[in-house]
Amino acid sequence: MKIEHCPLCGWGPIETAYPSIHELCVSYDICECCGCEYCYDDNEAYYQNWVTNGCLWFRPEKMPTGWQLKNQLEQQIRPWPPYL
Ligand SMILES: [Zn+2]
Repeated sequence: MKIEHCPLCGWGPIETAYPSIHELCVSYDICECCGCEYCYDDNEAYYQNWVTNGCLWFRPEKMPTGWQLKNQLEQQIRPWPPYL
């Protein structure tokens, strides 16, 4: 299953696509949108906390004008993370 969006917040397409969830996990990359570090804090509690705090971008310069979370919800993978 190719990963082209952040599984947690749904942002994408991400700069580096991963051939599998495992490859995403071992990358320890950080989502430029929600700021989760894969395989470390990419969990539901982190996501809910991020939403509660107003969905602040980890790299705000990357945020498209008029960005809205609801436009990427369908790209989220739930339940997440599946590798625990
Ligand atoms: Zn994200």
